Order: sequence, then C-alpha cells, then structure tokens
Amino acid sequence: EPSALFLGADVGTSGVRVCALTETGAPFAQEEATLPAGYRSGSGHEQDPESWWEALVAAISKLAAALPEVPVRGLALDSTSGTLLLADARGAPLGPALMYDDRRSRGEAERIARNAPADSGAHGASSSLAKLLYRAGRGETAQAAHALHAADWLTGCLLGRYGVSDENNALKLGYDPVRRTWPDWVHGLVDSGLLPEVVPPGARVGELSADAARRLGLPGGIPVMAGTTDSVAGFLATGAGGPGEAVTSLGSTLALKVVGEHPVFAPEYGVYSHRLGERWLPGGASNSGGAVLRRFFSDAELTELTPYLHPERPTGLDYLPLPGPGERFPDNDPDLEPRLEPRPAERAELLQGLLEGIAAIEARGYRRLAELGAPNPDSVRTVGGGARNPAWTRIRGDLLGVPMLGAGDAEAACGTARLAAGRLE
Ligand code: ADP
Repeated sequence: EPSALFLGADVGTSGVRVCALTETGAPFAQEEATLPAGYRSGSGHEQDPESWWEALVAAISKLAAALPEVPVRGLALDSTSGTLLLADARGAPLGPALMYDDRRSRGEAERIARNAPADSGAHGASSSLAKLLYRAGRGETAQAAHALHAADWLTGCLLGRYGVSDENNALKLGYDPVRRTWPDWVHGLVDSGLLPEVVPPGARVGELSADAARRLGLPGGIPVMAGTTDSVAGFLATGAGGPGEAVTSLGSTLALKVVGEHPVFAPEYGVYSHRLGERWLPGGASNSGGAVLRRFFSDAELTELTPYLHPERPTGLDYLPLPGPGERFPDNDPDLEPRLEPRPAERAELLQGLLEGIAAIEARGYRRLAELGAPNPDSVRTVGGGARNPAWTRIRGDLLGVPMLGAGDAEAACGTARLAAGRLE
C-alpha cells in the first residue's frame, strides 16, 4: 500500500479522466466520467463549464471512494489548450466556454497579427486571446472579472478563489514565458483586469476548499498545484522530462517535442516552447501523420498488414506522405507537393513506403529542432495510434539512431499527477 498519493485530472472534449499516482510515480488508480457533447455551429464550438465541473466531481468522487486512507499530497488539472471562458468576481461562468477548436475569431486573429511579435503563442483564430477579443467585441466582458482557460477555472473551483493560470495555458493568451510577464501589446488589446496571475505549472496555488472537498469526497486542505495543457500533460505522462528526452506523437498528425535547457521559437516553422520546470519543451508539428495512412488503410488493415512488413529491407520508395500540398515543419514551403508515386502492387509494400516516408519526416523534424537550438534526442518515446505498430517503431529507430523507449500507458491525467508530485524527471 502506498504511503501517499498525488492526483491529476485531464479535462478533454468528451470526458474527464483522473489518475492517482503513488509517491514513487506508479499509477495506482484511474477513473473517468463522460462529458455531454458541446454545441457546434459553423466554425463555433461551445461547452458549458458547469458540465466540466460536474464530470470532474463524478470522476474524482469515484476515484476517492476507492483510495486507501493515505494522505493526498497534491492535486492538479490539465485541459485542452486555448479553451476560454469568462467568469464574474465569484467565479460564476458568464455564458458558455469557447472551445479550443472554435474558429469564429478570424478577424480578431488578424488584429493580433498586427500587434503581436511573430513568436507569440497567441497567433491564430483558435488562440484564447482571439476568443477573449471576440467576446469583448460583443460587449460580453462588461460583467466579467476573469478570463480563464478550462484548467484555470476548474483549479479556481477547487480553491474557491479565481484568477490564476499557469505558464503553459497562458501562452495562447499572449503571456511571454521568457520574460515571465504580460507584454505591453496584450495590455493594449484587452482589459488588463481580466488577465489571470500566471505561475509555473506545478507551483502550489493553495489548498482544496472545504466545500470542494465535500463535493469530491476528499479531505479538505489537500495542496492544489497549477496545471498545464493537454499536450504537455501527454508528454509528461510518458515518463519523459530529462534533457534530450523526446516524445513523438503519431496521431492524425505528427508532433515532436524534446526537452532542452533553452527555449526555441521559430515562427516560420511553427516551432515554440513551453516551460517545463527549470527547462524548456520546444516542439513542432507536421501535416503528415496517421491521417495520410487512413486515406489508404483502415485501422484493421494496418494491424493485418503489419506482420508482412520488412523493416530491415527498406523499399526505397522515398514517399513524402502529406495530406495535400503545403508544409510548415520540418520544411516551411506552402507549395510542397506530396509524393506518393509509384504505387507497388503489394499492399504491404505500399504501407511500408508510407511508414518510411513519415519516419523520414520525423527524423528531419528532430534535425530541424536541433538546428534551431534544441538538443539532439538521446531517446524517443511514442504516443498516439502509431505507437501500436512495432514494425514502424523499428523503421523509425533505424532512421533516428537512438533508443526507442516505451511510454507506459501515457494517460494525460497521469502526466498531470506527475506535475502535482513535482516529478519532472
Ligand atoms: P488522434 O490524433 O486523431 O487522436 P490517435 O492517436 O488515436 O489519433 O491515432 C490515430 C491514428 O493512428 C490514425 O490516423 C491511424 O492511421 C493510426 N494507426 C492506428 N493503428 C495503427 C497501426 N496499427 N499502425 C500504424 N498506425 C496506426
């Protein structure tokens, strides 16, 4: 039996997952609760913040009922990066939250582009700053006291006090993580009083209020730590955290991250860096990835064909598997054309060619990050659907020339529990 536990919660789009870690960092228990679908219309996507709190209460109270009588030494939350809501001085949400992928604020994104430096995390219609400007433009900030990301608001619900964010979530609201301040250009665009106080992810921000403790079925007074975004939580969940440790996400798209001592910002490649304790987490994302595989193969076919691959015998097909013309990272070329010819007769050979092509983009991606100032990876862990394919891991390991490590069960909630425990390496 563990002598102490740390809790993490991951608030996704369709559900809340919670994880309890022991003091040695081993997962002890996990639970989840589903979220009702939000409201989508055109490029809009909204959810009711109260539904997040109810799902969080449901998931944590189920978890709490199964925990032994040992102290809980920390609790932290992560959520989808860029999801924003407005709240009044008592923390009551003013209307729905605009979700991470809500893209109504294109005009506001243009205003940001005219004011923000190129390397700001606030660019794009899906940034939380664009959403704040969108709601301000509709007069919706008049009654508001706080602009908060989902994790910021839920952390407030735990504390009974609102207005704190972390350096990872705040990046998309325009926060400058290098100078550790809200830049003047942000003050020039929004009502400064709405901006949260920003602290490092994992920093202690207070303790669980008696009210929240009663709802969650936990003892009051548990230390509450500032959280992070879903992508940083997913990185931490793999166990990575030391310098040179890299994580490749092989989901619908291909995303790379590697821990370094210095931040790397290269807007032309879409490369930016999150703070990770005393270190930095630069990353970049390619348009290539599993979505290209899905054009040719069902997931069942991928599993069936995998035993027929020959990682030790490269096909030489030299594909560039992009979903369409244009790429930003590792090559910044809006006209770059996919290369998916010639087509071999054998389905397994076609698959191997695609896997080799994506692996080549991954290897070029880590070289690009290194050119920009990140360390060369010493090891690579993998998350996402592609992690299931051992032949692909072999192909990638041969190209990257570094050990390919397991990523455990890699639930983002466990990464956030690691953050709460202060276990960054
Ligand atoms: P998302 O980014 O959409 O959350 P996932 O992490 O669930 O994606 O990964 C889905 C991707 O994984 C799909 O695009 C699919 O092509 C790929 N995938 C699924 N199974 C395999 C497999 N056995 N080998 C290689 N790729 C796979």
